[in-house]
Amino acid sequence: MTYGENKISFLPRLIKKDDLYGKAGYTLNLIKPNVYQFNSIGAGCHVYLIIGEDLNVLIDTGIITKFNSLNYLLTTEIGLKIEDIDLIINTHEHFDHISSNPYFRCLVAAGRWSAIKIQNNDELITKGKKWGVDLTGLRINIWLEDRNIIDLGNVLLHIIETPGHTSGSICIYEANEQYLLTGDTLFKGATTNIYESGSISEYINSLELLNLKKIRSFYPGHGEWVIGQNEVNEEIESSITNAKMELQTYINRITSKSLEKARPPPSLYNREEEDL
Ligand SMILES: [Zn+2]
Repeated sequence: MTYGENKISFLPRLIKKDDLYGKAGYTLNLIKPNVYQFNSIGAGCHVYLIIGEDLNVLIDTGIITKFNSLNYLLTTEIGLKIEDIDLIINTHEHFDHISSNPYFRCLVAAGRWSAIKIQNNDELITKGKKWGVDLTGLRINIWLEDRNIIDLGNVLLHIIETPGHTSGSICIYEANEQYLLTGDTLFKGATTNIYESGSISEYINSLELLNLKKIRSFYPGHGEWVIGQNEVNEEIESSITNAKMELQTYINRITSKSLEKARPPPSLYNREEEDL
């Protein structure tokens, strides 16, 4: 089967729907010969497992209420135990992507600006308490930056900083197969929300940079994957268009005051009374 100019030799396939936890669990898909997707319908995000020659890496750990299903499918269908996971990479700091981290005994990596929020228990951003999850005490052992590479033996994972959805959002690019794990940065048929710490203009910039890369397929944190280079480019460009429109709509709603009438905003430290 071909998509555009590229031959796709392996197509994603269903391995098993969770028969123990049902709709509260994951559906397991094999998306590459060495990459599994724990597909979450409803609450929580998809979790990805990359089996490397030297390291087994989990991309996000998912929502805490689905950990039992993750563990069940990992042990019965893949034949691995929790102890066989060598590294976790969190795509960003939202609770539904990180709240099962404590079940694992391995190193945890995340983008620098995600790590700072997680380690400071910044509930304004992570939203754990809002959804009934206590994220206190979570640690990030490795703070990732743009162009970091993680070598799994036969697989190189390239870290790409893609701020926008949140400031700490990253995507993970596998350059050999040219696929991208997008977290909440890029979805099929939908444009992501910009949450606290995020920025629409940074989001537009992140997508424009992604659009320069050769990406043959992407696998998001929610919703469906996209296969085919043209299809990927269309999704990126449609999100850029939507984000630009959203920014313009917001700008149009704001009524500005002339400089003479404008007052400086009150500072966080209540300094408007001080003679500074
Ligand atoms: Zn998110």
